[in-house]
Order: sequence, then C-alpha cells, then structure tokens
Amino acid sequence: MPTPPPPRRGAEAPKAPPTASNDDSSPANSSAPAPAPPAKTQPPARGPTPPSNDDSPVPLTTHLPHLDLVVADVTPLQTAPRTECPKCGVRVRYYCSSCLVPSGPAVPPRMPRLPFTLDVWKHKYELKGKSTALHGRVLAPDDVRVWDYPNETDTYDEDPGKVLVLYPSPQAQLIGEIDPTSFTHVVVIDGTWYQAHQMVRDAPFLRRAGVRHVSFANPPKTSFWRFQQKSEQHLATIEAMWWLLREYQLAHAPAEFTAYDNMLWYYTFQYQRILGSYETDQQRKLNTRLKGAFRSDLDAARGRARSPTPGGQESGDGTGDGDVKRARLDEESATQHTVDAKSAAAHPRS
Ligand SMILES: [Zn+2]
Repeated sequence: MPTPPPPRRGAEAPKAPPTASNDDSSPANSSAPAPAPPAKTQPPARGPTPPSNDDSPVPLTTHLPHLDLVVADVTPLQTAPRTECPKCGVRVRYYCSSCLVPSGPAVPPRMPRLPFTLDVWKHKYELKGKSTALHGRVLAPDDVRVWDYPNETDTYDEDPGKVLVLYPSPQAQLIGEIDPTSFTHVVVIDGTWYQAHQMVRDAPFLRRAGVRHVSFANPPKTSFWRFQQKSEQHLATIEAMWWLLREYQLAHAPAEFTAYDNMLWYYTFQYQRILGSYETDQQRKLNTRLKGAFRSDLDAARGRARSPTPGGQESGDGTGDGDVKRARLDEESATQHTVDAKSAAAHPRS
C-alpha cells in the first residue's frame, strides 16, 4: 500500500520564469533505484534485530555530496543506536524502512511543506531496503508518498491534468517553465531505466491525456556511491527529488533555493560515512560497486586528506570492505536487507 496519503496540497503559485535549459535528456531524474514502499502499518515480519556489533562511529568526511548543499548537522546519526521503531517495534537504526518513520535519538530536521506532493512510484522489483527515495517519505511525510508499482498505483487517481511525471522524454518540459498553479503532484519513478521506460509506456494512469512530463534543466553530477551504468547525470532517486525542488525554487523563489536541501539529510550522512571510511584509509581500494561518479569525489577527498595511514593499516574487520558493508547495511535501512549488489549495479541511477 502506498504510504498513507498525506494531505493534498495545492501547488503554490509563484511565478514561473523559465529556467535555463540544457536539457540533458539523460538526467534521468526519474529512474531511481529502488526503495521501499510507503509506510505500512503492520509490523514487518522480522524478529528483533540481532545485537549490533557495529556501533562504533565511522569517521565522516567533511565533503558534501553537492557543493552548495545546506543540510542540517548529520553527526547525531553517527552514533545512533538501534532502537525500536515507534510503529512496529522492530529494532532499527535511523528509520524504519517498513514504516518509513524515523527511529532513535537522531531526530531528522524539520522540513518545510513542499510546494507539491511527490509521489514515488517504486517498481515492484526494486528492493525496498535499497531505495534512497524512502528518505523523502521519512523526512517529509506530509508531502511524499510511496506507491508500489503496479500493485498500488492501479488505484492512483489524481487529476491527470495536475500531475507531472519526472521523465526526460522529448516532450518533457522544465519545472521552471510550467505554471506552478497548474500541477499539484509529481510522480517520481523509482526503478531502473528500463523499468522506468516500461512504466511510462504501460501504466494506464501515466498514459492518460493531460499527464505531462518534466525533466531537469541543469542537473548536477550525481554523488551516488553505487555503481551505475549510466552517466554521472543519472541521479539517485532522492537526489532527483531534491534537485527537482531546487530547480523549482530557482525558478520561483531563488532567494530560497536551498529550502529543501534537508531532503538529502540521510543521503548526506551515508555519503559522508562511506566516503569517510575510504578517506581515512588511503590504501583501501575502491570497491567496484563504489566506482562511477563516486571515484572523483574520493580522489578529491584523498588529495586533501594527508594520508593518515602511511603503511596502510588495512582492513582488519573494521576498516576494509567491512566498513563499507557495514555502512551500506545501515544505509540500506535500518531494518533488514542485506546488501547484495546485484540490483545496485542494475540501477542506472540511483
Ligand atoms: Zn517499523
């Protein structure tokens, strides 16, 4: 089931000066990887989480995933212990990927209401525990919903004329060129590129007359650490959600273009801890799954950080891939899901 529908809101209506455009059709905002669906009310079938043996704080890099990002302090997440999910009781770290609510002492920053509802359509093959899109729901529960495709999206019944789909088709418009009063919802597809194409082609609602496509004008390079086959313009789903809001703000409220940057709060933490674990160990080789755009960030970080580990104290168990594995584990969600990489590699972007 989709996340409990947050109160609907009308789009605010600032004026809409056109944004610059350099439509890179591949900034696939849309194809994001796979997160978990909306908040469910029932406890996930899962016993108590095993005692965590990974509570030691991982060093965070000071690098930001995007240069001008303005996010709240993420260090409280660094030492966050597993705690019971307030809804289902499962012990999780950071947030519950089933209920999509925060858990533990690290309280997420308060997000302002979004100018429109973001509806994440998560392809059924996308692993719940891998999705960065879920962060959006946890951080902005009133304005982000998660729907499983196709099971839940069959009941999606917004007014097609008020819905935009983040998808770089030839007819896609830029968010800054669309009258902000003309739409209330933006569908963000969470899946591989292939799945995204299929969904746009096959989902009855997305084919309805009136549904418009929107794409980015100037997408940033992704900072996503997972291997991806597409270009650096292929953003992780949560990056795409954040960037959509950025471009909206740049067009309609440029003085507050960072207003929704906390959408990347969990993402920033994950990025900083994964990059940080490599930065502190100059000898560690980049895991193949972490190549791609992430490599240049690592090179930059290492260039700055003066090799703290001359000889390369290597991975005992806390340093090597174990860290990454561990980081990713937490990342994948506080709850379960072991990280297997196959689908990661399959996600074109995010
Ligand atoms: Zn829960």
